[in-house]
This record gives sequence, C-alpha cells and structure tokens, in this order.
Amino acid sequence: MTAFAMPALAPSLPAVPSTLLVGGRWRPAAGGATFPVDNPATGETLIEVADADARDARDAIRAAADAQPALAALSPARRAALLRRVEAALRERADELALLITLEMGKPITESRGEVAYAADFFGWFADEALRIGGDYRLSPSGLTRILVQHKAVGPCLLVTPWNFPLAMGARKIAPAIAAGCPSVLKPAEQTPLTSLLLARIIEESGAPAGAVNVVTTSRPAEVVSTVIGSGLARKLSFTGSTEVGKLLLAQCSAHVMRTSMELGGNAPFIVCEDADLDAAVEGALLAKMRNVGQACTAANRFIVAESLAPEFTRGLADRMGAMTVAAGWQDGAEVGPLIDDAAVAKFERLVADALDRGAAIEVGGGPSNGRFVAPTVLSDVAPGTALLDEEIFGPLAPITTFREEEAAVNAANGTPYGLVSYVYTRDLERALRMVGNLASGMVGVNVGVVSNAAAPFGGVKQSGLGREGGLEGLAEYLDTTYAAIPV
Ligand code: NAD
Repeated sequence: MTAFAMPALAPSLPAVPSTLLVGGRWRPAAGGATFPVDNPATGETLIEVADADARDARDAIRAAADAQPALAALSPARRAALLRRVEAALRERADELALLITLEMGKPITESRGEVAYAADFFGWFADEALRIGGDYRLSPSGLTRILVQHKAVGPCLLVTPWNFPLAMGARKIAPAIAAGCPSVLKPAEQTPLTSLLLARIIEESGAPAGAVNVVTTSRPAEVVSTVIGSGLARKLSFTGSTEVGKLLLAQCSAHVMRTSMELGGNAPFIVCEDADLDAAVEGALLAKMRNVGQACTAANRFIVAESLAPEFTRGLADRMGAMTVAAGWQDGAEVGPLIDDAAVAKFERLVADALDRGAAIEVGGGPSNGRFVAPTVLSDVAPGTALLDEEIFGPLAPITTFREEEAAVNAANGTPYGLVSYVYTRDLERALRMVGNLASGMVGVNVGVVSNAAAPFGGVKQSGLGREGGLEGLAEYLDTTYAAIPV
C-alpha cells in the first residue's frame, strides 16, 4: 500500500501582490472584500487576496480598452523586446515562481519548475512571432482590383484560467495577446490567484504600458466574468476550464458576437497496440497519467490496451505508480502531491467505488485517502458504462480496458463527447498514421506521453473546445483580418 509522508512544515510564501491590478495601479477591491487562498497540502490559509466584484470588473475592462492605443502604438520590435524581458524574468525567478505554484496548487516542485520553463517558452516563442505578423497581397479575378490583406489586434481580451497550471495557462494567453497588440483582463481561478498576480507584476516590471494587463482576483467568477462580457468592451474571450462553464460563457459571448477560444475538458484515450514497445508505453503512460497528479486536461483518462499485452502493461504501470512518493510538493522526492480540494478527493473516491461496484479489480492503490492525498490507483477489468470511462477523472487513477482489433480501439477512443488528445503506442508507422487519421481529437501523441510545447497548436475538437493555443495558430486567435480593395 502507498505510504503517505506527512506534510512537513510549509516553506514561507514568497512576496506576492494581494490586490487587483487595474490600469497600472495595484488597489483593493472596490468593496474592500478579500478571500483566502489555501495551501491544498495542509488546508491552511496562505494569504487573503482582493475579492473583486462587478465594479472592479467594469474598471478593469475599461482600463484595458483605454490601453489599446498605447499597446497598438508599440512597434513589433518593442512588443517582442517586452516579451523577451518577461521570458528572461520568468527564468531568473524560476525558484520563487515554482514555490508559489506548489504552495497554492500542490504539484511537486520539480513539476512546478517545468511549468515555469514551459511558460517562459511561450513568451520567447511569441516574442519572435510578434515580428512576423504579416499580410497578403493579391489581385481580384478580373485583374482590376488590388486586395491588400492586413492583420490587426482583435482588441481588449478577457482571459479566464483554471487552477491546474496557474502560470502556464496565463502565459499561453497573455504572450500572444501582447504579441498581437491586445490589452487584457486576466481572471485567474479562485484557488490559485497568486501566481497570476506575480506574473502580472513581472510583466509590469518588464515595461508593459499601464493597463496592458489587468488582473481581477475574485471568489465570484460568474459575476465578474459576465460583467466583463456584458460591458461590450471586450472583443474576445479566451477561456480554459471545464466544458460545462465553457458552454455558459459561449452563450454569453454570442450576445456580443465576441471572438472566443475555448480550451475545455478532455477524456484522453491511451491506446497500446500489440506491436508497441512495452517499456516505452509504460513510461509514456506514467507521464500522461501522473503529470500534475493526474489533474490535467491532457491526462490519459482511459487505457485501451491490446489483449496480448494487457497483463504485462498493467503490471508495469501498477509497479511504477505504486512506487511513487506521495508527499507535499515541497518535500524532498515528492512525486505525487495533494488533489486541489475536498471535492476532488470525494470525486476520486466516488469513481473508484463505482468501478469496484461494477466488477473492476484493484491492481495497486485504492486505499483510503489522507486529507487531500490519494493513492495512485490502477484498476483492471473495467466494464463499459463505468463512470470513470465517461467523466474527466482529474486524479491519479488509471482504468485499463482491452481490445482485439484496431478498429474497436479507435471506436472506443472516439466514443466520448470530448476530443482533446489521444495517445497511441505502436512501432508500425503505417498503423500510426492511419490511427492519427481516424482518431477524433485535436492532438495525437504517437509514442510520446506529453504533446504540448510553445510551437504546437494545442487544442481540441468536439466538446473539448474551439481554437488553438501555441504555434502560429495561437497568434491568429488574437488577430482580425481587414482587407482593402484598391483599384489597379
Ligand atoms: P472551471 O470551469 O470550474 O473553472 C475555470 C475558470 O472559470 C476559473 O477561472 C473559474 O473561476 C471560472 N468560472 C467558474 N464558473 C464560472 C462561471 N459560472 N462563470 C464564469 N466563470 C466561471 O474549471 P477548473 O476546475 O478550474 O479547471 C479544470 C478544467 O479545466 C478541466 O475540465 C480541465 O480539463 C480544463 N482544462 C482544459 C485545458 C485545455 O487546454 N483544454 C487546460 C487545463 C484545464
């Protein structure tokens, strides 16, 4: 059974702003309210932060709109230089940022450092892309009209982020917004506002014009977000979070015909074909399942394994998951931190109990939780219809099912309303390419357990979302097209 190390005394919180940033001014919420931010490993309050309401939301989007001319007036070279300074500052302050991520979100510090490097990469990538925003020139079919195509900043943006990657999710939105010349209002998740506040301070210290990035922390997301959307000043929403909330916000944005990028939930299949390299598949499975304690939209949710390989694969994954060190993220050797909150623990326990009721077998884990710490768990013989095959698990729980024919594996993989990422392990190139073609997801990891990087167009199909973050596609999300018709 998994041993839980008791959380050692938490390191002290790095210095971090705790007020709103509106129009270049750090200030309390209009109503003077605050709300607590918890350390999920201990349940203790780390700090109180400003609790914005509708008045602050209106001020913030007004400040963003007012900053539009100053940001648009920055030359591409100056926008690129600003982004490069932010990239450098993130790398220089990696230890401080990583500790902050671990304290408010819970992930092991080594993973938090990885998140800082990943976020810095986005500022670097979009610094380069800021210089390459191009246009197009063509002739009308009659040859009588010149067509001059330009790309311009969409305008003020509302950026709404989840708690699971407190730095990376903001970076994936703010970096392309600045590159394109869009000011923004960032509304971080209530569980993890601190990293966003420090990121905003770093961007400010790197020389961003006042109002280019505004931050509203709040325990009332529905009020604040709907006020910004309802203001009519925001021209775009970029949202990362659950499909459920995404649908609500899409409906609100439709009233203003706003541009939207929606990075929503996932239910990733991880297919291991009979010709897979077994060791590589176990290694990839561990990464795809256990990164961020399983709390990732890209987390492998369903393992679909060729019948002939299933016993060995299951043993390999169970051995590796069972050997992981469950501890507070800042403790030496921590590999599995706590879940984000009590509701997440209750969901984990409900999903395990439902699977066992339906005849699943525990290969490792499954024991009682300890506070917000749960044991990495592998289940075999998971029957169709079991809740964890249909829901986003968001925890260190790996259900294994088996298949005989490739077609059955693809059908099972696609049998979900989600379509974010699929993973395939095979040594047959033709099969790999065929499956990439047949899998209904925005991304496919072929013999890799992690797909995301700054150059890649991250995003989903079906109910996993609209639009892409990263790559050239990530910048296009913040640009409108204007064309001028000019006689020849
Ligand atoms: P969530 O939808 O509960 O919250 C996301 C954000 O929306 C938070 O900032 C929250 O405060 C805000 N919010 C919540 N209710 C709202 C409402 N009624 N109106 C306006 N805003 C509201 O999601 P979460 O629990 O923070 O994050 C986990 C989810 O995010 C998972 O479904 C995960 O798959 C998804 N996610 C997706 C990606 C991706 O790139 N596709 C990346 C990370 C996480």
